[in-house]
Amino acid sequence: MAIRIVTGGIAQETNTFQWQPTTLEDFQTGSSGIHRGQEILDLDGTGTIYGGIVAEARRQGVELIPTTYAHAVPGGRVTRHAFETLKQEILDGIRAALPVDGVLLGIHGAMALEDEDDGEGPLIAAVRELVGPNVPIVAPLDLHTNLSGAMMAGADAFVGYKHYPHIDTPETGAHAMRILLAAIRGEARPTMAHVRLPLIAPNQSMVTTWQSPLKTAIDRAREIEQEPGVLAATVLGGFPFADVPFAGVATIVVTDGDPALARRYATELARICWDLRDDFTIHPTPIADAIAEAMAGEPGSVYVLADIADSGASGTAGDGTAVLRGLLEANARSAAVAQIMDPEAVAACIEAGVGATVTLSVGGKHDKYHGEPVEVTGRVRLIHEGRFPILGPMGAGTYASRGKTVVLEIGGPDGIELQLTELRGHPHDLNFFRCFGIEPTQRRILVLKSAAHFRAAFEPIATKVIEVDAPGISSPRLERFDYRRLRRPIYPLDPETTWSPED
Ligand SMILES: [Zn+2]
Repeated sequence: MAIRIVTGGIAQETNTFQWQPTTLEDFQTGSSGIHRGQEILDLDGTGTIYGGIVAEARRQGVELIPTTYAHAVPGGRVTRHAFETLKQEILDGIRAALPVDGVLLGIHGAMALEDEDDGEGPLIAAVRELVGPNVPIVAPLDLHTNLSGAMMAGADAFVGYKHYPHIDTPETGAHAMRILLAAIRGEARPTMAHVRLPLIAPNQSMVTTWQSPLKTAIDRAREIEQEPGVLAATVLGGFPFADVPFAGVATIVVTDGDPALARRYATELARICWDLRDDFTIHPTPIADAIAEAMAGEPGSVYVLADIADSGASGTAGDGTAVLRGLLEANARSAAVAQIMDPEAVAACIEAGVGATVTLSVGGKHDKYHGEPVEVTGRVRLIHEGRFPILGPMGAGTYASRGKTVVLEIGGPDGIELQLTELRGHPHDLNFFRCFGIEPTQRRILVLKSAAHFRAAFEPIATKVIEVDAPGISSPRLERFDYRRLRRPIYPLDPETTWSPED
């Protein structure tokens, strides 16, 4: 009889500095989605964890029983109602599938609830209670997981992404499936050890397209995975824009029945991160300097100005105005901005119609952390329903949506092309321009509201990437955040923090 594995989950990354909670409706809006039953299996081949999970199950002749998989664009804390509704759906699906040989969960790892700092821990605990102690539970984890004690207590094995941008979601899903199958077939006894460091790091220091400190540790994790008896080795950068006690850097190693070996390697990886703790600091460039450098560039060059502090992929609203204001003050030419979320401005542009000239106050409306609204006058060049395909290398085969989207042309055809959107989003694909009539390789300045995911598609076309120092709730300047629930002392907020991974 075929091995029966049940799967489902809830995936959301929570920025607790985002005041707006994530509701059930948010799981069904824009680029978010709730996949049920066959819709999960239909993710086979896409650039998602299920792209790998489903493919590996098929390859190995496993019966994969889908329940519900809900994922939401990063944002504020998930409401209790949304969590309980989705959790119940998943549990009902699992109950209907019993008996099963294993559970593969589709989670993110940094979800927080409106009244609880840990979202994944309670979900895993509920699944464990339902299936009992002897059915293995395995999950892939996002590199930005904030690892809680409850997560470790409830699962048999975790394996994290090794790339940021996350271009390895399918292979990590497949890796998790292989560990689960080895456990079910009695070929391995997954045994986990983890180390949580007193270290919090900005997202931008976790990028793996350059030799970041996190990449140095991940390179060693790859070597460790080649050692006999090791099933997975993971370095989690954590998600720093979450004021939860267990946020920050952690390591997890899974071995075949050897807790001492797991502990030894998890400790070694933690030691690498701790020794490099000073290198996790990011020094963004003043906005005016970045714009001046770009405008002085060679003809044909493309400068990416990364508005890393206002990244929709890190749960910000994406309506920060500091870089747009800088472009206007510098009278920048050949600049394209993706994007500013402003439903009011979008509605006004639609009302005016294509070809109309409008004067609007845009952005800076969602909260007090992303600058004041900016007045702009421009021509409405395009109105788009907002949904478009993602080509890759990250998320290929999926669709993105930022709601109704307008391109506003400011200062004539070679001036500033500003995309105004109804919903949040993060430009991680060239189609964030091309589907809106803007050829990114032909613009001097591309302003991207993205912490790092933009790098997968845009580094290959960029003459230079400059991370700019704008205000926002995904800023690498962690000292600007008002942490109240985070454990202390923690480096670098408490510079005198001392620690040894052997403690
Ligand atoms: Zn991530």
